[in-house]
Amino acid sequence: DPVVPVGAHEVLRRREQVLAEVQEHYYAQPPQIERGWREHLADVDGRVYLDMVNNVTSVGHAHPRVAEAAGRQLRLLNTNSRFHYAAVAEFAEKIAATLPDELDTVFLVNSGSEAVDLALRIVMASTGRRHVVAMREAYHGWTFASDAVSTSVADNPNALATRPDWVHTVDAANSYRGTYRGQEAHRYAPEAVATIRELAGRVDLAGFVAETYFGNAGGVALPPGYLEAVYAAVREAGGLTVADEVQVGYGRLGHWFWGFEQQGVVPDVVAVAKSVGNGTPVGAVVTRREVADRYRTQGYFFSSTGGSPVSSVVGATVLDVIREERLQENAATVGTHLRERLRELGTRHELLGTVHGDGLYLGVEFVRDRTTLEPATAETAAICDRLLDLGVVMQPTGDHLNVLKVKPPLCVARESVDYFADALDRVLTEGW
Ligand code: PMP
Repeated sequence: DPVVPVGAHEVLRRREQVLAEVQEHYYAQPPQIERGWREHLADVDGRVYLDMVNNVTSVGHAHPRVAEAAGRQLRLLNTNSRFHYAAVAEFAEKIAATLPDELDTVFLVNSGSEAVDLALRIVMASTGRRHVVAMREAYHGWTFASDAVSTSVADNPNALATRPDWVHTVDAANSYRGTYRGQEAHRYAPEAVATIRELAGRVDLAGFVAETYFGNAGGVALPPGYLEAVYAAVREAGGLTVADEVQVGYGRLGHWFWGFEQQGVVPDVVAVAKSVGNGTPVGAVVTRREVADRYRTQGYFFSSTGGSPVSSVVGATVLDVIREERLQENAATVGTHLRERLRELGTRHELLGTVHGDGLYLGVEFVRDRTTLEPATAETAAICDRLLDLGVVMQPTGDHLNVLKVKPPLCVARESVDYFADALDRVLTEGW
């Protein structure tokens, strides 16, 4: 069993007593984390862990520039975005500059759920229509609309049965374990296009929402040409396309800053959060001016803390750090090295079915049988627990919870990912 300090048990008991039960925590007996530094976490006993799961802390834990900028701004001014101050314009300009020219108009919010929710409302307002198509097995957030388009059974076992009438779905375009595998994966796009055309004939179709790189399954690239075909069908039907870049965007994929670049498309509306604030609540929706303007038909838009001086300064500083510390490049080089190391483990350990992903967005999928792809769910949970003993924070993902969610801070060092690969090799060799 992991050694958990006595005080940590007491704090855990208090947490569980006061928080709603569904507000879960990692691990049955989690270490009590006190501080972080780059890709490392330290607990109250001074034990240090390698954080290989944190896609929120994009530029690393306790980044001094982010901390300094936030602290300085907190001492100067923090208020709502109806006041006039420079930071909101600077941050919005910076985020728009990372996107294709036509995506020039920014809404600032506080989270990924809010960003997806607002993106859907923008699409509905802009088209004057109501129905939305989403990809199955996805997670888009907890707010009313973002939850409505979320169908991952890992988050809600009744997800598909409980969708509101305005939500329609297309198959999860997973080329590893979906309906169509490997060479057959090109069949997802025409099937989705047919569904969209059929829907367009009988409902008022407002748009389509999906991650641009299939995140819930551990970072599986959509089949080549998938979004191009689907976006064309949505536009032909008069709808708009929403890219959920909350997990996959912002440099994590290494070779591309945004996931949609990997598919060679430009969405109408982009929703982003997580990495944007390096763990503080900052989210954004970016779209074209004429699409944003139609939101007026819904009244006004206001978020008290969305785009506040502190949020804006944090957002701008994170973007500066990603560029100046060349973190996207680090994601590409260190991520490619890690993917090779993990794939090599697959040549020696039967359980390791495949390694998904690009850059520092990788998924290690465990299967009991490489032909039937029976998910190794219990094994994955046990492997994560054993990795914690060895000082690595790692969690399962996917609808079968059989995929390691490999998403460390973008500043992760090559030595750290080697430590992780060595630890995983040891667990797979010795057992768990
Ligand atoms: N979209 C995706 C793809 C996500 O992964 C998440 C968070 N896991 C969200 C939206 C919701 O973001 P948040 O937790 O910031 O509300």
